[in-house]
This record gives sequence, C-alpha cells and structure tokens, in this order.
Amino acid sequence: MNGCGARLAPGQHWERCGETDMGQTAPVLCEACGGKLVRAEKGGKGSACNRTACESGPADWYNQYTQRWYCEACAKRINAAATHSICDRR
Ligand SMILES: [Zn+2]
Ligand SMILES: [Zn+2]
Repeated sequence: MNGCGARLAPGQHWERCGETDMGQTAPVLCEACGGKLVRAEKGGKGSACNRTACESGPADWYNQYTQRWYCEACAKRINAAATHSICDRR
C-alpha cells in the first residue's frame, strides 16, 4: 500500500498520504488507507482547496461568500471573474 496521495491536515509533520522519508520510514497513511493520519478537511484553512476539481494547497485565500478556503490559483480565478474582489489572502 503506497497511499492515495491525499493532502493531510496541517500539524502532523507529513503533508501527503503515502509520503516516505527517503525509504527510512514506512509510508504514512491516511485513515482511509488504514493509517492513523487525518486527511485535510477540504476547504478548511491551510488544507486542500475548496474547489471540487482542485486538490491544491495550502488553501490560504478566504472566499467571503462561500466562507471556505481556496488555493491561490483558484482564488485569483474567482476574483478575475468577478467585478470586485471576493477572495483575499489571510
Ligand atoms: Zn490515503
Ligand atoms: Zn484550487
């Protein structure tokens, strides 16, 4: 089992499910893969971007309408499509 590559919640040392330390430690696994690490909550601050098709992070741009967090690329795209700034970096 090599992990699914899902982004993990901040503060757990590891960033992604399946990460290894140059082969020194066994792959770290998220709960869905039988491990103990908590997956990042989608759209949470510093986690994975809230946009369904996007798994980028850290999501540190706040959307004042959806009240969720987005990655920089998606936040800028949302802002570019609007007449005024909807997402801002916090
Ligand atoms: Zn996993
Ligand atoms: Zn994104």
